[in-house]
Amino acid sequence: MGHPVEHSRSPEIHEWFARASNQHMAYGRIDPGLEGFEAAVAAFQKQGGRGLNVTLPFKERALALAQRVSPRARLAGAANTLLFDNGEVEADNTDGAGLVRDLGQNLNWRLTGMAVLILGAGGAVRGIIEPLLAAGVARMVIANRTVSRATELIAHLEQAGLSASARGRLSSAGLHAIPSGPYDLIINATSGGHEGALPEIPTSVFSATSKVYDLSYGIAAQPFLTLARQHGATAVADGLGMLVEQAAESFLRWRGVRPKTATLLSHLRESGRP
Ligand code: NDP
Repeated sequence: MGHPVEHSRSPEIHEWFARASNQHMAYGRIDPGLEGFEAAVAAFQKQGGRGLNVTLPFKERALALAQRVSPRARLAGAANTLLFDNGEVEADNTDGAGLVRDLGQNLNWRLTGMAVLILGAGGAVRGIIEPLLAAGVARMVIANRTVSRATELIAHLEQAGLSASARGRLSSAGLHAIPSGPYDLIINATSGGHEGALPEIPTSVFSATSKVYDLSYGIAAQPFLTLARQHGATAVADGLGMLVEQAAESFLRWRGVRPKTATLLSHLRESGRP
């Protein structure tokens, strides 16, 4: 469910997972309109639906309507996955696990001990901070154009139960006042790439050994990844792997089976879409 939702590739991804793991499953798109989200969830549950993915702009409302909330969804303050069980709704968030799995398993980037720079402090960043810290990164700077949003995000995480050890490795900054690097991993989580815009950052954050990841994929990821290459980075990746891995993590929650992702990921890359 989302508004809009026609662009979503999730039906194709989940149908692929279901075929490959012999699961009988139907997965479609529902746009309930801005006002209709809660009623549409209740109606879907009543019709025998087993669960949902939720995308913009409903991720916070999905959390609010659930009777049970996973620790990672509570920290994120948002849910992308709902599970219906015995008449109850559970909210989960698989975005961070999907990113960590893409970085660690698909790209083979070792996260332990890394100094990480995250650009952006929007909805996607809320879900990825704690899973990255839990994966062992040594320190993390959240830099955002609107600094107050990055500060508020950290305050929310603290209030939602982020551990003291994780909090001690986390700081916020404005884009023009990013503490000097080097950074082992730079993640672009700003949305400007969809309009061809780049975050205004000092290019000294890049080095030949930096790994650079853009959460967006396809054309939207290219401005930032090109900038990174121009400033020496050679290990760069877009967010298609995260998209597939967060879906696999949701599938695992609903069906109890972790689908294999490598063939699907190659197929999506080779087909040149999305
Ligand atoms: P939000 O709208 O919640 O946040 C947007 C962020 O981008 C804000 O931090 C905003 O800064 C910043 N921003 C936008 N334009 C610019 C600009 N020109 N210069 C600097 N900063 C800018 O978006 P989301 O967090 O939901 O998504 C972020 C990106 O991640 C998107 O590209 C989205 O497609 C991608 N994504 C990928 C996923 C995947 O599975 N691969 C999953 C979820 C998201 P400010 O606060 O100052 O406005």
